[in-house]
Amino acid sequence: VGMDFLFIANNLGIDLLNTEVMLQGVPVDLLGTAENLAGWFKAAGFGSLRGSSESLARIHRLRSTIRRCCDKLIESTPLTQADLDSLNEVSNKTRFALLESADGYVLTPQATDELEAIALIARRTCELIASPQIKSLRKCASDKCVLYFVDVSKNQHRQWCSMELCGNRQKSSKHYRKVKST
Ligand SMILES: [Zn+2]
Repeated sequence: VGMDFLFIANNLGIDLLNTEVMLQGVPVDLLGTAENLAGWFKAAGFGSLRGSSESLARIHRLRSTIRRCCDKLIESTPLTQADLDSLNEVSNKTRFALLESADGYVLTPQATDELEAIALIARRTCELIASPQIKSLRKCASDKCVLYFVDVSKNQHRQWCSMELCGNRQKSSKHYRKVKST
């Protein structure tokens, strides 16, 4: 069963987390190979990066760190110092450049190689954790789903990773039970 990469989280770090999915009850790693990683970099807007095996190991480590952090944040449990150190270490490799734009100068993150791309993902995760938006970090309401997202909706009622994946499924199973019981 194939599956496209998901960018439904409103945060790059959480989008990375969502490369581990459940398909029909089986955990699937969408970043199993270096080729997968190159494809994900492209889909995430980083352009053409190679996706080396070193980067793959590095991104798996970062993803595990982000997962541990998200699991704790969702339960309002403090993050471990080891995870903070690890996030900081990767995030601190971000490179910024002051660029001229129509509205003045903009401090813009540079991600010209895999290391910088991974650093930027960590940086975006750190920015989320440090922002008030972290209170809107949610896990998909389906207990068969492992996806996370940041609810940026005004009414803060988003329940599902996406309507296509979980929302409709839930709705149709409810509908099915209703039909069956009548
Ligand atoms: Zn879901």
